[in-house]
Amino acid sequence: MPLYRDEAIVLRTQKLGEADRIVTLLTRTQGKVRGVAKGVRRTKSRFGARLEPCMVVDVQLYEGRSLDTVTQAETLAPYGDVIARDYTAWTSATAMLETADRLTEEREPAVQQFLLLAGALRSLAGGEHDPGLVLDAYLLRSLAVAGWAPSFHDCARCGADGPHRAFNIASGGTVCPSCRTPGSAAPAPATMELLASLLAGDWVVADASVAQHRREGSGLVAAFLQWHLERGVRSLRLVERERA
Ligand SMILES: [Zn+2]
Repeated sequence: MPLYRDEAIVLRTQKLGEADRIVTLLTRTQGKVRGVAKGVRRTKSRFGARLEPCMVVDVQLYEGRSLDTVTQAETLAPYGDVIARDYTAWTSATAMLETADRLTEEREPAVQQFLLLAGALRSLAGGEHDPGLVLDAYLLRSLAVAGWAPSFHDCARCGADGPHRAFNIASGGTVCPSCRTPGSAAPAPATMELLASLLAGDWVVADASVAQHRREGSGLVAAFLQWHLERGVRSLRLVERERA
């Protein structure tokens, strides 16, 4: 397959030499792919601003030994343009792109991760919900797709029927009184409800939540993410959370 075509989300770009860029793409069918976009930094580049982070493109690449070469790129959804106008949306999107990059492997198909990220970017660009909620829903669901779905109701260790008061990151979520270990958090029941609704995509419950529970929930989601991704997600620190 020397020449191939796919839908892709631009995750990241790096400068290469004077005029070129290495573009990291999450494609719909091939997983993560890295390609060189030649001449992309010249003002008259035929790629224009299409190969910027958050953009969804229809892309054609020529397979190379180590890096592929982008030969064509057409915009499918210019989310980057819209999201860049809102600082909170932009930092939220940046944290999502970094997470997607960390949760996917080169050339390993990850269609669910692609669809989740595309959906979350669409939601951010459309301003449908609070950007912080869109981010946390994305983080929880992408972790779930990676096999690390946290539990917000039944005990994560023994499966005892919930709801339970204690939450333990290392155990994988809420824990019953007999499984509870020292160092467990005891978040507000409404925070657990919010996180469960974000994981399930129940936006009626999530949109009705208040700042205090959103903040507590974000803290738990960030801690959960750090636990599973060795170095953590650096760009998460830039996201401004709603103040009480
Ligand atoms: Zn238990």
